[in-house]
Amino acid sequence: MPAMSALFAGIDVGGTSMKSLVVDQSGGVINHITFATRPRALSQISALATDLVAHYPSVAGIGIVVPGTVDEKNGTVGYASNLDLARINIPEAVTHACGRPTKLGHDGRGAGLAENLFGAAHGSRSSVVIPIGTGISASLHFPGLVWPGFTHQSGEIGHIPVYVDGEPCACGQFGCLEVYSSAKGIASRYEAATGISTSAAHVQELRGSDPIADAVWNKAIEALSLVLAQITLTLDPECIVIGGGLSGAGEALLRPLRDALTARLEWRTPPRLVGSALGDSAGLWGAAVLGCEASGSDAFLSWKPEPYRQQGH
Ligand SMILES: [Zn+2]
Repeated sequence: MPAMSALFAGIDVGGTSMKSLVVDQSGGVINHITFATRPRALSQISALATDLVAHYPSVAGIGIVVPGTVDEKNGTVGYASNLDLARINIPEAVTHACGRPTKLGHDGRGAGLAENLFGAAHGSRSSVVIPIGTGISASLHFPGLVWPGFTHQSGEIGHIPVYVDGEPCACGQFGCLEVYSSAKGIASRYEAATGISTSAAHVQELRGSDPIADAVWNKAIEALSLVLAQITLTLDPECIVIGGGLSGAGEALLRPLRDALTARLEWRTPPRLVGSALGDSAGLWGAAVLGCEASGSDAFLSWKPEPYRQQGH
């Protein structure tokens, strides 16, 4: 077990930005930085970890979350677009650089872990946490288990085919959920219909005064409700958490989604559907939890971070 004065670090590696967080035993934030991801991500992660340890020698463990196909058990990434992380044992490389125990996780599952421990799903025995941003994914939490999947690709719900003969998706298929309901999909479909380039948040704001915005938004809700009905009927979770940039719309998103889900599940009660409490910082908090675990501490069980409800998109 680390000393009572020990600190824990988390690093959230994204395709465009990298964030780091240093917290104390009680989950109090000591340091929080965001900067651009450089092409050589592994050397950047190692240099950042070395810097954090130099500035805060009490850091007892480091957690790193990355996107892609992540094998948490073996510390490797099979595939992560735009990042040079494939087939390297990342915790070994980082520990070698900075001299601290290190644990690797998946960004989506890390975000789900944080929402479960001290966010919107806190107190639920089972939950599905769904960040909606450029893409859509889900992390599946059951008692004592975060299910990564046989090939570490669980929760790729953005590519569930929702509409037969639907619009094309970047994955090569047609009618995928992401095409209709991701923030990127909503903005793209609005632009295709109007020629106007804007954000999903703006499309949401135009509802009621712009019939095309209404149609695009309603289609996003319809596709999401179809997939949430499938998730509910397959897994029967206690709680579904909607996170990511689109959850900034709050009840404007959640209320019609609850109504649509309830209508599709006429014969049973739908699970509790809530917005993320940690917003864009959920993955980073998940990384800090992994840093705490890497050091052999379970201090994270009593953390109560201030909610980072994300504003805007
Ligand atoms: Zn797809």
